Amino acid sequence: MRAVRIHSPGPPEVLVYEDAPTPSPRPGEVLVRVAACGVNRLDAWVRGGRYKSALPRIVGTDIAGEVAEVGPGVLRFHPGQKVVVYPSLSDGTCRYCLEGHPNRCLAGGLIGAVADGGYADYVAVPATNLVDAGRIDLKAAAATPVNFGTAWSALMGAGVSPGKGVLVWAAASGVGNAAVQVAKLMGATVIAVSGSKERADFAVSCGADHSIIRSKENVPIRTKELTGGQGVDFVFDPIGGETWATGIESLARGGRLISLGLTSGATSAVDVGRLYRNELGILGVFGYTKQDLVRVLSLVADGKLKPRTRELPLKSAKEAHEALESNSVEGKILLIP
Ligand SMILES: [Zn+2]
Repeated sequence: MRAVRIHSPGPPEVLVYEDAPTPSPRPGEVLVRVAACGVNRLDAWVRGGRYKSALPRIVGTDIAGEVAEVGPGVLRFHPGQKVVVYPSLSDGTCRYCLEGHPNRCLAGGLIGAVADGGYADYVAVPATNLVDAGRIDLKAAAATPVNFGTAWSALMGAGVSPGKGVLVWAAASGVGNAAVQVAKLMGATVIAVSGSKERADFAVSCGADHSIIRSKENVPIRTKELTGGQGVDFVFDPIGGETWATGIESLARGGRLISLGLTSGATSAVDVGRLYRNELGILGVFGYTKQDLVRVLSLVADGKLKPRTRELPLKSAKEAHEALESNSVEGKILLIP
């Protein structure tokens, strides 16, 4: 089969489009013919060596396709069936798995990081990691898991409800525009923060009520102006150290900072006085459950959530990573084998 493999960590040039052995499904596994694979930060972290992985490795966690072949013992899936991959690998036996949170598994890992992923014609995955795609278009499905699953898990887990205010950092990014759409679906008022006028316009086209351009405006001051001096109830932050302090400053009393990623510094000074006097909370979110994935896939199928995508051929994985890392992508890049 054709695949994009990494033989040594490094810049986008280490993504090599080449022939690789087609995997055979082992007992309990399914061979999926990849229809589309979403491009995520995680792929770039594995490529760059920040996320350790055995090499060579085929990255790609956001996978949708058709069952090509089933391994021994697989009863629930059949060739030709359209499927989406839930990428969290878990042991099913630790305390967190038993509590319904395989994304917290002590022995956990991700397809596309600790096992080969979807930058290929085919990928073999455990049948327990598959979800029936149902009515959903496979390209829309491939743009859904990481972005919409994470946004759903984060905003549901934080308790977003109608009438609340949500500020979304990086609102034109894949996970950012997903958060804008999910928060609107939950009935919230959304303030989108982006880096440029074009990206702010994109966030508004995804449903944001207000937008702030972070390079030109003071985010906490502008947020207070837009919320009658109160601040927002939730801040959705996929950026990290660089934005924590201003996010906390933008919160109303009783507000929650939802931290779900790290594209800037890993540490931040927190104003502890503001934290306790204003009864603020900080919630970390890592991944999502299979139930979250099933829920967002059905909302995409119903047209209530709309992944915004740009397609590139699989052989252009290098260009896809360059675009992702220059923050020039609006929505999600899909690689099409
Ligand atoms: Zn576990």
